[in-house]
Amino acid sequence: MGPMDVLEKAVGGERLTESEVLSLFDLPLPELAAAAHEVRLQKTHPEVVTFLIDRNINYTNVCTVGCAFCAFYRTRRQKDAYTLTYEAIAEKVEELYQVGGRRILMQGGVNPELPLEWYLDLLRYLKNRFPDLRIDAFSPEEILGLERLTGLRAEVILERLMEAGLDGMPGAGAEILVDEVRQKAAPARIKTADWYRIVDAAQALGLYTLASMVIGFGEGPRERTAHLLGLRAQQDKAREKYQNGFAAFALWTLQVEHTRLKGKAPGATAHEYLKTLAIARLTLDNFAHLQASWPTLGFKVAQAALYYGADDFGSTMLEENVVSAAGGHGRTHATVREIVRQIVDAGFRPAERDPLYRILRYPDPKALLEEGLELPLA
Ligand code: SF4
Repeated sequence: MGPMDVLEKAVGGERLTESEVLSLFDLPLPELAAAAHEVRLQKTHPEVVTFLIDRNINYTNVCTVGCAFCAFYRTRRQKDAYTLTYEAIAEKVEELYQVGGRRILMQGGVNPELPLEWYLDLLRYLKNRFPDLRIDAFSPEEILGLERLTGLRAEVILERLMEAGLDGMPGAGAEILVDEVRQKAAPARIKTADWYRIVDAAQALGLYTLASMVIGFGEGPRERTAHLLGLRAQQDKAREKYQNGFAAFALWTLQVEHTRLKGKAPGATAHEYLKTLAIARLTLDNFAHLQASWPTLGFKVAQAALYYGADDFGSTMLEENVVSAAGGHGRTHATVREIVRQIVDAGFRPAERDPLYRILRYPDPKALLEEGLELPLA
């Protein structure tokens, strides 16, 4: 079967094998884009592009893992090391409420000075003050840190966090789930098997999870294919065993500007990003939603991504420190108006959604853009 037949197979709804996915990397971008967009139109509302109003909160930058690609973390002795107080976190949530958002994405470093009780008390504190707040927080890396600190298994830790108010565990820290690639970029980083083990535990408990991928470590088509097939297999398992699964897939490019990987890892061009995104759409046949990433490559590439398989524009991220510290595209957050403008200009109808991709409302772009109202959605 030639690569063009593989495209037909994917558009026809058939699952691709490993060698078929690999063959897609040799195809020109326009062919991949056309097939990926066709599959996106089949799977999601063809005219609509969704987005989410949310806020990132990085509760601590103290971290003992020390990934070479990370410019965000600090050792506990560094002057600008911080851990936010509960009150400071609540203030950030308050600001989110003022613009109509009800979801925080809260992640931080692996900080051994924070016991499990600190996390449990934080979740209870926030849920008490903001009963309708949705808290998607902590990555498999942070849960692994808590396993090491407490001697408890991820299942137990996650259960206790859920009882205290946790709604979901985003899938950060996936990067490329191939240990040879991870070993070079961050030897102490969570290993592939542990990442899947902890995500599996979260999915078994009914927690929201998100699948992600970061390209640009110097990995090739083989590693990218392995990553995508691993996520697809986990999605099959979660759907079948737990009637759960990843809510979506998000692709990012590695930012190395201010990190120790500068000059050592190649990063990824917009061309590579769009190609890998299209291949992801054709490979991940059990995912409905793919996000376009504007923080790493800017609004224009994110708009193009809407024709390479993505159906979602991500979120406002009112605050984001990890990508920006590493040298992102100069954007750390976007307003609703900006996101709506990008979606409309790209030729789609914007829809505000929740983290589970349920549409909440269709903002009126005319009112939003012409009357200059910044955030009239609440
Ligand atoms: S990426 Fe996460 S785990 Fe790695 S050093 Fe940065 S904060 Fe720590």
